[in-house]
Amino acid sequence: MVGLVPTMGALHEGHFSLMRAAKSECAPVVVSIFVNPKQFAPSEDFQKYPRAFDADRTALENLGVDYLFAPTPEEMYPRGFRTTVAVEGLSEKLEGRSRPGHFQGVTTVVLKLLEIVQPSLAYFGRKDAQQARIIRQMALDLNLGTHIVVRPILREPDGLALSSRNVYLNADERRAATALYRSLNAARLEVMAGERNPAHLLAALRRVIDAEPAVVLDYAEIVDAETLEPVEILRGECLILLAAKVGKTRLIDNALIEPDNQTFRVTL
Ligand code: AMP
Repeated sequence: MVGLVPTMGALHEGHFSLMRAAKSECAPVVVSIFVNPKQFAPSEDFQKYPRAFDADRTALENLGVDYLFAPTPEEMYPRGFRTTVAVEGLSEKLEGRSRPGHFQGVTTVVLKLLEIVQPSLAYFGRKDAQQARIIRQMALDLNLGTHIVVRPILREPDGLALSSRNVYLNADERRAATALYRSLNAARLEVMAGERNPAHLLAALRRVIDAEPAVVLDYAEIVDAETLEPVEILRGECLILLAAKVGKTRLIDNALIEPDNQTFRVTL
């Protein structure tokens, strides 16, 4: 059973956790490294996105990954390339509102990777929860025959979600960036205390962000995990999704809220 882990490289433990999961369930395991120009707006960080190809390749060898697929932009998008794949309804909100066209770039490249590699399983992180939801919908809608596996978020000891973009943070910003995790945790504590009103949960979250002047919230929403529509009361599976700028660096994070025996479990 072929397993695929798509990445943009600058690999960290979050990526490695997906590869270890793939190794335990699949053989061979294919990892792709492709910094996909189509998912970056002209104003974004495509040119300076961290690239660490040699270190990545060594890490993949040490992990026992079977194949590395690292195409060039010209190989993926030869002259005359014209097709865009869009998952309508899920792609325009949240990240999609702040980054128009971003998810069309993601779904276009992921469909190509799935077509090229033909994996039975493809592994994604809940770190990018909206992306994972959109890709699962694409796989279903287009009968891709690939099962989409979504794995937990790996975090630094102080809670910051691992991200290739964390290298952009200076020491002060790195300290301030824990506000994302702390804000989700504040909402989690409110849920544990019985709060079910998303507006109140988001108020608790905002208080933490607002106390950190270096962090500017882009959005924070509590949405149904299937529809990604805001919920009026906690019901079923929900996500707390947020994006914030820490200095010039844009970071995202989220928490999963699941029903659990008359109450809710919140997983960061
Ligand atoms: P990227 O290289 O940022 O495109 O990420 C490649 C894959 O790794 C995506 O499915 C991400 O959701 C996943 N990923 C990134 N960061 C983490 C993390 N901290 N924990 C778990 N998965 C992650």
